[in-house]
Amino acid sequence: MSKRLLDKVVVITGGTKGIGKGIAYMAAAEGAKVAINGRNEQDGQRVTSEIGERYGTEAIFIKADISREAACKELMDRTVARFGRIDGLVNNAGIFPRGTMVDTAEELFDSIFTVNMKGAFFCSKYAIQQMLKNGGGSIVQIGSTNAYKGAKDLAAYSCSKGAMLTLNRHIAAHYAGYNIRSNWITVGWVASEGEIELHQDHYGRSLEELKELANTHVPSGRMQTPEDMAYGAIFLLSDDASQVTGTELAINGGLGL
Ligand code: NAD
Repeated sequence: MSKRLLDKVVVITGGTKGIGKGIAYMAAAEGAKVAINGRNEQDGQRVTSEIGERYGTEAIFIKADISREAACKELMDRTVARFGRIDGLVNNAGIFPRGTMVDTAEELFDSIFTVNMKGAFFCSKYAIQQMLKNGGGSIVQIGSTNAYKGAKDLAAYSCSKGAMLTLNRHIAAHYAGYNIRSNWITVGWVASEGEIELHQDHYGRSLEELKELANTHVPSGRMQTPEDMAYGAIFLLSDDASQVTGTELAINGGLGL
């Protein structure tokens, strides 16, 4: 079977861990040149060298905190400087600290929105500028079941994902005429590095306890994996999905329905 992302250039924010890393590996396996971003140089270098060894494709790590507009621009500029173009963007970087409506402080709200929403907005802005130059592209928004109502203790997070859902529809509606697509994945529950750490630090739960809890909540009976998300993302990034835009692809084992 041919590689579905052969020679496409794909930027993945937060690609050093969890879901983003899973998508980066599968995109490389499908022939893409990947630019991954994150905040830890060592993690980034480890992922890019593993990609090179496993798949023989080019990968670069760009250290950038996407909560700043200038960093989003730099991420796209450096990708183009290295690979000449951008065909795909996965807005994956996100944070999910807990807080109910009544106990969310302004600082917590701002920190969540500046990464999850502002970061996705400005990465999209600069990626689209490049995609317009090369005749099109595909953006994948890594969303959440929480966008639609949200867990009680994820008030600001849920609202940030709701805004990202609007971003998805906005881009899809206004850029289809430029062959630029935007699609959203409704992520269910994944035992990523970030999720494991949060459950350990916030609730004192081990990985086994997290899985046991999650497995009873997810109708399909198990947590999703980064690979489950990657299967959807690769399809949406590929030309197989050339007529797919503005969609919400639920990869959640029935969670939140
Ligand atoms: P994770 O914590 O394991 O990985 C997050 C990645 O984002 C890391 O590489 C981190 O360095 C990066 N990141 C965070 N802030 C950043 C910033 N300011 N600039 C650049 N990079 C930054 O988390 P994950 O579970 O893999 O989450 C990935 C996405 O999936 C998030 O958008 C999250 O909201 C979404 N999601 C996750 C779950 C889940 O159950 N894990 C459920 C629904 C949605």
